[in-house]
Amino acid sequence: MPFTLRGGDVCQTTFPDPLPNPYWVAFSSEVAKLIDLKMGNNRFPCDPQWLEVLAGNALETADMQFSEPISTAYSGHQFGVWAGQLGDGRAILLGDMNGQELQLKGAGMTPYSRMGDGRAVLRSSIREFLCSEAMYALGIPTSRALSVVGSKQAVRRETIETAAVCARVAPSFIRVGHFEHFASLQNTVRLKELADLLIDRFYPECATTKDRYLHLFKEVSNRNAKLVAQWQSVGFCHGVLNSDNISVLGLTIDYGPFGFLDQLDFEHICNHSDHGGRYAYQRQPQIMHWNMACLASAMLPLIALGRSMEESQQLLRAALEEFPAVYAHEWLTLFRGKLGLQVQHDGDLKLIERLLKAMHQSQVDFTNFFRALGDVRKADAPSMTQLRNQFIDIQSIDAWLSDYLTRLQLEVLEDMDRKDLMNRTNPKYILRNHLAQSAIEKAQQDDFSEVSTLFAILKKPFDEQPEYDAYSNPPPAGAQKVVVSCSS
Ligand code: AMP
Ligand code: MG
Repeated sequence: MPFTLRGGDVCQTTFPDPLPNPYWVAFSSEVAKLIDLKMGNNRFPCDPQWLEVLAGNALETADMQFSEPISTAYSGHQFGVWAGQLGDGRAILLGDMNGQELQLKGAGMTPYSRMGDGRAVLRSSIREFLCSEAMYALGIPTSRALSVVGSKQAVRRETIETAAVCARVAPSFIRVGHFEHFASLQNTVRLKELADLLIDRFYPECATTKDRYLHLFKEVSNRNAKLVAQWQSVGFCHGVLNSDNISVLGLTIDYGPFGFLDQLDFEHICNHSDHGGRYAYQRQPQIMHWNMACLASAMLPLIALGRSMEESQQLLRAALEEFPAVYAHEWLTLFRGKLGLQVQHDGDLKLIERLLKAMHQSQVDFTNFFRALGDVRKADAPSMTQLRNQFIDIQSIDAWLSDYLTRLQLEVLEDMDRKDLMNRTNPKYILRNHLAQSAIEKAQQDDFSEVSTLFAILKKPFDEQPEYDAYSNPPPAGAQKVVVSCSS
């Protein structure tokens, strides 16, 4: 039974729409294992009926039956504005497998589709598949992706594309938007049921405290503060941080027009519908905090059970104010790691900030710079490092390198050990937009080999993989500005 509330005001039984002549585009045997799905010898499930299930054409295999697929109602704030009811417009929850929920994205219309067609295109399904698994390999909390199934069915977006279904997996897909939904309906009974479910299953530590809902709010907020710090540390931009896209388990969910930074640009916007840059790289922490404020107001009626409204507001405000400190602490820890600093020193924050500013000014490749920083040796002089050549203002980067080398003298580890440690923090391979784009273009010609290659590389983002060295290169000139549309 999927982990969700029951009842017509919460969810509706929804059967997937058939997808004609489906075929495998991508499949993750690791995720299959996670949900206890038996694999054959050919990298695909043992039971071929799974292709039909994951396409939305069937609800049972030899040993599995999904008797009540559902879609759920949620509401939310989009681009900072209350959008009212949204809901799973193109996601259908098939059911539970081994404690994980299995959801089909793009399996046709639901009662919450509004003006949409309930479908997803091949392009966006491949992006979601690759990025979910890449994020997992980077150690970042995320929903997982089991498969992409393609079809020749036409789907109209800016141009005509073909349909695909991405099967995704998470312990729960409950969002801030689910809380906002019941709060907007002033349905405190449902709100309470939702919070209790969440506590029972995922936040048992809150059950024993006096103020269980306040505690729950703080835990959710902490998880999301840490999550966004992790995004910043690998240069991940989500693209649509609307409150309906924010998991209450602190997972990265709803991959759409996301993008990883190539060059460090604080103002980088990856979603071409984001005209004001609300979801730009540097604004993500602030926006996540804003989303936690949405959650706080949705949870207010729960905090107010048994106390005055004024006191409840004060308590929530104080809890919300903890976010920046949790974020800042996590961010500093992660960036210390990126610089290979194990000892804590008062000047570290300034040192990191100076570096990022210089990288931004010179548009230095974010991933490759940190990877190469591991090659610096304690006995080097600034002029000996290759890194300085990427900067426009050589004098100021030399000054920074000189301070960094001085700082390294406080570290206990030898150069090689520090490098090893840094290489486990600073990935060599990320899902750069131009890489995803070339895999997609091949897949659109029915060649899925590049999807498989990228998938294999991104599973080991911290390994050198010398045969794939070219996949760590910055985008070639001309491919730099792949902006991704929201219409997926
Ligand atoms: P997103 O920005 O992808 O999170 O989508 C925002 C809302 O629009 C969610 O409620 C989605 O379920 C819905 N939605 C997005 N694309 C479609 C589509 N093709 N058909 C129906 N609903 C959609
Ligand atoms: Mg969404």
